[in-house]
Amino acid sequence: MTRLHRPVEAAPPPASPASSLNAARRARELAEVAGGTAVDVLVVGLGATGAGVALDAASRGLSVAAIDAHDIAFGTSRWSSKLIHGGLRYLASGQLGIAYESAVERGVLMERTAPHLVRALPFVLPLTPQVPASAVGLARAGIWAGDVLRMSARTHRAALPRPRRLTAVEALRLAPALRSYGLRGGLLSWDGQLADDARLVTAIARTAAAYGARVLTRCRALALSGDGAQVRDELTGTEFFLRARAVVNAAGVWAGGLAEGVRLRPSRGTHLVLRAESLGGLAIGLHLPVPGSSGRFALVLPQEDGRIYVGLTDEPVEGPVPDVPEPSEAEIGFLLDLLDSALDVPVRRTDVAGAYAGLRPLLYGAEGSTADLSRRHAVLTAENGVVTVVGGKLTTYRRMAEDALDAALASRGVEAGPCRTARLPLVGAGPAADLARLAAPANLVHRYGTEARDVMALAAEDPSLLEPVAPGSATTGAELAWAVRHEGALDEGDLLDRRTRVGLVAADREAALPAARRAIGRAELRL
Ligand SMILES: Cc1cc2nc3c(=O)[nH]c(=O)nc-3n(C[C@H](O)[C@H](O)[C@H](O)COP(=O)(O)OP(=O)(O)OC[C@H]3O[C@@H](n4cnc5c(N)ncnc54)[C@H](O)[C@@H]3O)c2cc1C
Repeated sequence: MTRLHRPVEAAPPPASPASSLNAARRARELAEVAGGTAVDVLVVGLGATGAGVALDAASRGLSVAAIDAHDIAFGTSRWSSKLIHGGLRYLASGQLGIAYESAVERGVLMERTAPHLVRALPFVLPLTPQVPASAVGLARAGIWAGDVLRMSARTHRAALPRPRRLTAVEALRLAPALRSYGLRGGLLSWDGQLADDARLVTAIARTAAAYGARVLTRCRALALSGDGAQVRDELTGTEFFLRARAVVNAAGVWAGGLAEGVRLRPSRGTHLVLRAESLGGLAIGLHLPVPGSSGRFALVLPQEDGRIYVGLTDEPVEGPVPDVPEPSEAEIGFLLDLLDSALDVPVRRTDVAGAYAGLRPLLYGAEGSTADLSRRHAVLTAENGVVTVVGGKLTTYRRMAEDALDAALASRGVEAGPCRTARLPLVGAGPAADLARLAAPANLVHRYGTEARDVMALAAEDPSLLEPVAPGSATTGAELAWAVRHEGALDEGDLLDRRTRVGLVAADREAALPAARRAIGRAELRL
């Protein structure tokens, strides 16, 4: 896989412990704001968007409190396809501006702010009998246009190689699981893939903390006003008013519950989790044509930890928005049928190790019409000055944060310098050459960057921390200990479902619970 080459251009943020989040820091900073200390900016929601707003504001020199009812990356930000898109699908629908913005932000993440977390993933689009000859030219033109976008966004070819047409033999060599019967070749293209979406959000939140933001999990906003929010500490039940000069509502699909006039209806997107063996050890991404639809593709996404995600569905969700959406059996069946339509390897229901679902917001407009915000984000300013930002994607979180913060500062007359985040490396970022030289396993470097050494160093205290947390798992006890000391993990769920992704497979989660409990117990002893 190709990694970046452009050097990181700004000085790294202040080193740990300024970026360290833990129970002691939470208690101290919560006491400050609950005791009446006002902040310049209050951000509600610690998904990619809210964490991005917190970083943007803190790095402009403003005082910040960023709260989440649950945890960092509790919401949609951990249920994505984990891609940093170049905007190809927006090109297909003629939305040039959005496509360009995505391509630029992909380059920022890959080459400057998070090179450790984003790698180039090759994709094969197999030219199966489901892809009519008439569609091949279009798909090919789209992939080439994507490369032109990469160039116009000034992302180096070394970071994202050139696309090309493959013969059937080449396509099968790259993806032996493909059905050979009727295969006419393939199209090879490249896009950005995150080591993990929740880890991106954790890195953004910790970088914000390094610039002084108070990052407070388990704090629910009950009601927002122009000058703050009524907040409940979910650990104690205590309520208080958090005073702020400007307020940004970044509560994702839950944002409508906090802002007058923002009406959202979610739509569910589901992924399967398979083990690599189920697809013959597939190491390359696939764009699989969805039978019966022209120009719609599903994604097969190999991960570094030996799992493969297969997505994506689009199902309307009625009723109250759940905290954790559940995939339906119908969606799982749809994705299995899709694999069956393109692969020679049989994948059965028993091969499905796990499944997860995330919610995209649809925004109700005037007269009941809805707008899909999964492409473009919306920034809405209420009469009381509260700014709500919804929609968009992980890839463009930085631009969304900038737009939302600018609107919030303008609406409340708060002065601050210009946005700096396009040049601020996230915690763990470093030049490719430095990352390659680190004395730590590559999979750890891809998740922790320059901090991988520090994670490993924890094992000097207790060598058993180098053991996997569950049989066959790539995650070690050292990562859990690190998450408790520096990444704000407060309980087993934070450890297994967000700082690491062991929990995406229920059986692995069950096996890892004792290690997670030990990590939390050890931290309590240290306090
Ligand atoms: C299935 C799917 C796949 C996707 N794949 C990709 C992809 O591959 N690449 C990409 O770029 N984008 C992708 N996206 C889009 C991307 O995931 C989202 O746009 C993004 O994660 C939204 O982040 P957010 O911070 O706005 O919302 P969220 O991540 O949902 O964060 C909102 C937070 O607000 C908190 N909250 C809610 N109510 C309150 C309250 N009252 N008080 C305090 N906190 C509260 C929640 O706990 C939550 O943590 C995908 C989306 C879906 C649905």
